[in-house]
Amino acid sequence: MEKNIGRILITGGAGFLGSHLSEALLAKDADILCTDNFFSGSKDNIRHLFQHPYFELIRHDVTHPFFAEVDKIYHLACPASPIHYQYNAIKTIKTSVLGTIHMLGLAKRTKARILLASTSEVYGDPKVHPQAETYWGHVNPIGVRSCYDEGKRVAETLMMDYHRQNRVDIRIARIFNTYGPRMAVQDGRVVSNFIVQALKGNPITVYGEGTQTRSFCYVSDMISGLIDLMENQDVTGPINLGNPEECTILDLAERIIRLCNSSSRIIHKPLPQDDPVQRCPDIALAQEKLGWQPEVGLEHGLKQTIAYFQEKLSHI
Ligand code: NAD
Ligand code: UDP
Repeated sequence: MEKNIGRILITGGAGFLGSHLSEALLAKDADILCTDNFFSGSKDNIRHLFQHPYFELIRHDVTHPFFAEVDKIYHLACPASPIHYQYNAIKTIKTSVLGTIHMLGLAKRTKARILLASTSEVYGDPKVHPQAETYWGHVNPIGVRSCYDEGKRVAETLMMDYHRQNRVDIRIARIFNTYGPRMAVQDGRVVSNFIVQALKGNPITVYGEGTQTRSFCYVSDMISGLIDLMENQDVTGPINLGNPEECTILDLAERIIRLCNSSSRIIHKPLPQDDPVQRCPDIALAQEKLGWQPEVGLEHGLKQTIAYFQEKLSHI
């Protein structure tokens, strides 16, 4: 990877992925401008970067226009946990749609390359398994998850239309479930929920029977995939980034109980509406075009994440 990779804007830079991306890009001598409205992110995620001479933070809500001279834009701003994105569904749609329009306008004006953090949710409750980029998805357009799913689908449409119509240099990453240190204790996604519950000795809340599957990618793998995609000269995407190691939610719960050496028991709660039954990325395209594939297995990644939460909970 070359050094001096330019002036980089990261929207949602104080979030889970944004904070790790900021760190990784600073290590490559980038000049980082991080924006965030702190809805689901936190200054605590990036506080250790405040003294870095090439890191700037601006409080900004991406539903409003933003002007700056930049070379690359990683557009991550959007709540990602179901409890967060359903908290204010209209705001979530505005964030995806208006936010992406504003960032594409900025990319068009400055001729910056822009990467959208899209999601496996564009495949909805998939009828094709594993999911390849050629699959158009099976999404409920009027359900409780649609503010997020359809918001990201429109964001992808906007990316493609600005690319076709205005020649904006785009990258679309379809991110599958990613976990790791700096997920918020109250994030609500399954890995952080189960680890916090197991460490506290509380019941592990499996929604439904726990037979639904997900494929979990460790954060360091995801960050390298995002940077590889941004730095690639040829690939616009959409391109799947994720770990194809698939497991049931019940299996995840049992593993986390074992790795935490916890006495927690499993309880079942109602399955949320439109919860996808199965999800696993086909990453052949990322392997072929980017030479990228995940390196960190679930067991190792969970151990790292558990160690983070152990430390975090000891201060609460
Ligand atoms: P996160 O909630 O930790 O980070 C999102 C960040 O965006 C937060 O810091 C939040 O405060 C900020 N934000 C939200 N609305 C905003 C707005 N209107 N203006 C400015 N900032 C705003 O979640 P994450 O896991 O880091 O996700 C980052 C991106 O990656 C999101 O776009 C998400 O959709 C995408 N993604 C993540 C995953 C995953 O498993 N982590 C999977 C698929 C897609
Ligand atoms: N889930 C669960 N218990 C929890 C949180 C989530 O059983 O405490 C389930 C959820 O129903 C889904 C899976 O775990 O089937 C992944 O949920 P998450 O919110 O992490 O992400 P999603 O992939 O659904 O967006």
